[in-house]
Amino acid sequence: MYYEARTHEIVEVTNAMEAAIKIKSGSIETYQVMKWTSNDGKYFMYAVPDGHIDNMLLELAILRQEIHSIDANYQQVESITNGWIDNVDILGKYLQESETSNFIMIKNAQLITINPQGHEKAWFTCGCCGTSFLANVKEQIKFDQDAGYGICDRCNSW
Ligand SMILES: [Zn+2]
Repeated sequence: MYYEARTHEIVEVTNAMEAAIKIKSGSIETYQVMKWTSNDGKYFMYAVPDGHIDNMLLELAILRQEIHSIDANYQQVESITNGWIDNVDILGKYLQESETSNFIMIKNAQLITINPQGHEKAWFTCGCCGTSFLANVKEQIKFDQDAGYGICDRCNSW
């Protein structure tokens, strides 16, 4: 869940296949999230880079959000190891299948777009001592650590 600690930019695409093509093209930035509407028109779908530090696109967290309900949560329905998939069509098929997935990994996932509001929390690994800790995303961003990393209170007080 490294992505939960980062801020993202939404890139709108028309469908799952276009998202797969963009992801595989190597032309997207690791903070960019592909967003499309599911075939049945029920969900906004999001493919979020979720790998650690040096290869963020190795893993993709797939989130979806009901279009017709107000303040709908982000549901995480899939975690795809994109690094093992060579073929655009196969990635597109996985993305498409996640539109109708009955399995929800996380009911209330966090996706921060543009700027954190100040209330978002996420798990970080301290870039200094390696401890895992829960912290406020907005406060951690100033340390400018790699994805999933922050600076814990103890190290910051030195
Ligand atoms: Zn520390």
